[in-house]
Amino acid sequence: MKEYLKPCPFCGGEAKFGVTDHEGNDRDDEYENDPWSGLAFRILHIHEENEGCPIANYEIDGAAIGVYLYDSRKEAAEAWNKRQG
Ligand SMILES: [Zn+2]
Repeated sequence: MKEYLKPCPFCGGEAKFGVTDHEGNDRDDEYENDPWSGLAFRILHIHEENEGCPIANYEIDGAAIGVYLYDSRKEAAEAWNKRQG
């Protein structure tokens, strides 16, 4: 099942899943198929794609929203979608 991320409540822009290892190092999507160093997820909202958004972060900084790592896409999606008013 594909988890759904709602649009950003501030700018209406797109939020994405970021794949990381258990230490929060960024990994690409393929890593998810062979997560040899642990697997976690976070929400990305990229400033370059959503200019003017108060919560977007620069891609060079990882673009992650918050510092939390989630065990699954579902958890990450629930945390993000909960932000909606
Ligand atoms: Zn936004």
